[in-house]
Order: sequence, then C-alpha cells, then structure tokens
Amino acid sequence: MKIGDILRKGVFSISFEFFPPKTEEGERQLFETIRKLEKLNPTFVSVTYGAGGSTRDRTRNIVQKIHEETNLTVMAHLTCIAHTREELIDILQDYKNIGIENILALRGDVPRDKPDWRPPKGACKYAKELVELIRKEFGDWFSIGVASYPEGHPESPNLEWEVKYFKEKVEAGADFSITQMFFVNDYYYRFVEMCKNAGIDISIIPGIMPITNFKQIRKFASLCGATIPQSLIEKLEKVEDKPEEVKKIGIEFAINQCLDLIEHGVPGLHFYTLNKSDATLKIYEAIKDKIPARST
Ligand code: FAD
Repeated sequence: MKIGDILRKGVFSISFEFFPPKTEEGERQLFETIRKLEKLNPTFVSVTYGAGGSTRDRTRNIVQKIHEETNLTVMAHLTCIAHTREELIDILQDYKNIGIENILALRGDVPRDKPDWRPPKGACKYAKELVELIRKEFGDWFSIGVASYPEGHPESPNLEWEVKYFKEKVEAGADFSITQMFFVNDYYYRFVEMCKNAGIDISIIPGIMPITNFKQIRKFASLCGATIPQSLIEKLEKVEDKPEEVKKIGIEFAINQCLDLIEHGVPGLHFYTLNKSDATLKIYEAIKDKIPARST
C-alpha cells in the first residue's frame, strides 16, 4: 500500500520507526519488537538509513524481511548526500524489484567525525533533489515521504526559511511528511499553521520520541534542536539515576502529548521506538480509545 494514498483518504495513521541492528542478536530482538507492535495494526513501519551509506545492505535486508515475513507496510529511509545518482537509482530499483512502494527521501548529515569528507561528484545536495530524482526515474511507483522540522532544522536560520524549502520538497513530489521529534506541541501547531498559510497541503505526521533514557534524549534533543520543557527536565533530573522512574515520567509525558495532538486533529502519530516495544505499547494502551477510527 502507498502511504500517501492512505493518508489522502483521511485515515488516521499509526507508525513505528526502527533502525537496522548491527548484530544477529539485535535483529532477533528487533523482530520480537515488530511482532509485538504488529498487533497494534500500524499503518506502516519504517527503517532508518545510515547517512554515509553505512547501513545500505542492512536497511535493505531488514526492509525486505519485514515486507516478506509480516503483513506490515514498510517504508525504507534513504539519504542522498553520500551517494552518486547512479547508486541512488540502483538502490531504488532494487526496492522496486522486491515490491517496496514507500521511501522517506532524506538528505542525511555530513559525517561529523570526518572533517575532510566530501560528497561524491554530482551527488544530490538536498533532499528535494532526491525527491525529483525518484519522480523522474520511477514516476508514481513510490509514495514519497520527507522530513520536516517544527522547531526548524539546525541549519535553517529561521522558520520562514524552513517552510520555504519544505515547500520545495512538496512541490517536487513528496506525498507526506514526518516531523523531527518535539516535546512542545505548540511548536508543531505553529509550524503546521505556517505550512498551511504557505499552501502546503500534505499530511505532516508528528514524530513522537518516548523518553526512556534521559541522558540519551538530552543528547538527541540537543543535536536536532528539540526543546525539552524546563518542567520536564526538572522532573527527570530528580530521578536521573532511577531508570524505571525516568521511563515512567517519560511515558506519562508522551501519553499527554499524544492525547493533546489527537485532540488537535493530527493526521497520525509516528513513534521513534529505538527498536523497543515497551514504552510504545504502554502509550498506545493509554491513548487507544481516543484514536480516531482507522479503517478506510
Ligand atoms: P533537506 O530537506 O535537504 O534540508 C536540509 C537543510 O537544508 C534545511 O535547513 C533546509 O532548510 C536547507 N535547504 C534545503 N534546500 C535548500 C536550498 N536549496 N538552499 C539552501 N538551503 C536549503 N538521517 C539519517 O541519516 N538517516 C535516517 O534514516 C533519517 N531519518 C530521519 C527521519 C525523520 C522523520 C527526520 C525528521 C529526520 C531523519 N534523518 C535521518 C535526519 C536528516 O537526515 C537530517 O536532519 C538532515 O540534516 C536533513 O535532512 P533533510 O532530508 O531534512 O534535508
């Protein structure tokens, strides 16, 4: 199923994001997680991609395994910054050959630990060029998702800039978007309003990161520029060395965040699972009665 078609029908979307594990044990655990989350009947699941192409085969193999061994619709993330156009076409052709119809088209980041790193000659500089390439080479075979940033991408000087270049990705052929994690819903509402005013009419699905490890989330949030509310920081700091307490507070926060988003009519919820099911299952259980009907 093409995710864009489902969203255009107004079906509320629930989705889960995974990363490709490095070991066999990690893969076994991931599939245990997938089996548990599959019971929630997600609209789709997605598998991330290492920006430098580092997970090229692993992402592809996990995507194929989910596609062939489960009933889930799976979307492959693909970053363009480290590939030539020919390589991107090969990767996409391979996905098409195995029946994958959904791609999250991303730029990726320049590797932080390699100051001399340069993109290959003729590589796509921005995600928009990857969207254009997919449409040019594959027409409508793929439904294309793109990233969006309610608080602005760290490289964007302001939100007007953010919306301007987001709109270019939509005009190039993106069908829907998933946001960077955020913890303050008002930033999401403001961003969606700005997008509407700019004429952007695709679904912008909020990305939800349940906090289960404070240190890790602090690092992620500072890297991507997501604001953690001071009141939540203070609560978490008090229990920083009690993992179960941190998790409890994080889950409770995410439940309230999701309930508020549902009340405001969001098109869906995308959970960053970090390959674990526990927090997502608890959040889902608490919000399930408020989730709009999901059949077509
Ligand atoms: P772009 O849309 O190209 O934007 C990047 C920056 O360039 C923005 O500031 C934008 O405003 C600016 N810009 C765009 N066009 C122009 C232009 N013409 N001139 C000047 N500036 C311009 N990373 C991974 O490595 N693997 C993943 O699997 C992955 N999954 C993600 C999933 C989601 C839902 C999100 C939100 C992010 C994900 N990322 C992933 C991170 C992403 O790769 C980084 O945030 C990256 O820095 C930007 O990617 P993008 O596709 O948003 O880039």
